[in-house]
Amino acid sequence: AKRTGRNSFSMFTADLNERAMKRLSLEGELRTALDHRNFVVHYQPQVDLVTGEVAGAEALVRWMRPDGTMVPPGDFIPVAEETGLVVPLDLWVMEEAVRRAVVWREEGVSAFKVSVNLSARHFATGNLVEKVEDILTRAGLPPSQLGVEVTETLLMQNMQAAVDVLTRLSGLGVRVLLDDFGTGYSSLAYLSRLPIDTLKIDRSFVLDISGGDSEGDVVARGILSLAANLGLTVVAEGVETMKQVDFLKAHGCPYAQGYLFSKPLPHMEFRKLFQRGSIF
Ligand code: C2E
Ligand code: CA
Ligand code: CA
Ligand code: CA
Repeated sequence: AKRTGRNSFSMFTADLNERAMKRLSLEGELRTALDHRNFVVHYQPQVDLVTGEVAGAEALVRWMRPDGTMVPPGDFIPVAEETGLVVPLDLWVMEEAVRRAVVWREEGVSAFKVSVNLSARHFATGNLVEKVEDILTRAGLPPSQLGVEVTETLLMQNMQAAVDVLTRLSGLGVRVLLDDFGTGYSSLAYLSRLPIDTLKIDRSFVLDISGGDSEGDVVARGILSLAANLGLTVVAEGVETMKQVDFLKAHGCPYAQGYLFSKPLPHMEFRKLFQRGSIF
């Protein structure tokens, strides 16, 4: 049994206080950072496994602290979600990515597609569709060049609103990607209700691909055959080895993303990938 003497109690409250304080100061810093646009967008290529060419990119946000350090999203997105700051943040990332795609388009990279991550928070606020339409119109990007990545766990939190919003986005011509696919619940039940274009095979399954009968092999094959039956396209995430590429190609996976091809890059460096042609 656990003793709850005065000491462990005060240690517990001290710990709670410390965490609450940290969270509060992080929230304040995030607000300031948003006001000052102290974020950068990095781009990770999504590679066509048949041609080896860059077909598109996922836009991933990083926070640039005043001292120059780069904070990865895992360290602040949860607080941004809790506080609702993720809504303006995601829209800023979308604006950046859309503007960048227009610049690249003007430079002759026409088939390029860019996708951004959307928090479930957007489905509750109501005006996401108008905002997206506005961003695309002002920048002059064809909607089919923009994709939104949503996770199934987040969708489940507000299914009806998600169906409504995604249907309207899809109506504009924006592509919808289901992120981290395979990690949530009842994936099949709602797949038919949602206007989804692409399934992203979660990194955990790709990591586990052995070329035999591991869970990763079974799940990856299952997702690829499901996608083929439903007429959906697939991006495998977290690809790090040629062995994974060979397996994915052998089972008809059209696109892949991962450190094997490139880490997420600042736009200037990402731009150089186009000049290289095939990335293999
Ligand atoms: P995600 O959407 O699943 O993004 C993929 C993450 O996997 C990225 O981490 C990427 O750098 C990492 N990754 C890509 N290839 C590999 C690989 O081969 N091996 C390994 N080990 N990792 C790989 P990142 O950039 O740290 O982002 C983490 C998460 O933060 C994202 O997961 C996404 O959920 C969230 N996030 C990032 N940017 C945004 C944003 O603008 N808005 C929102 N709401 N969430 C974001
Ligand atoms: Ca994503
Ligand atoms: Ca993912
Ligand atoms: Ca993830």
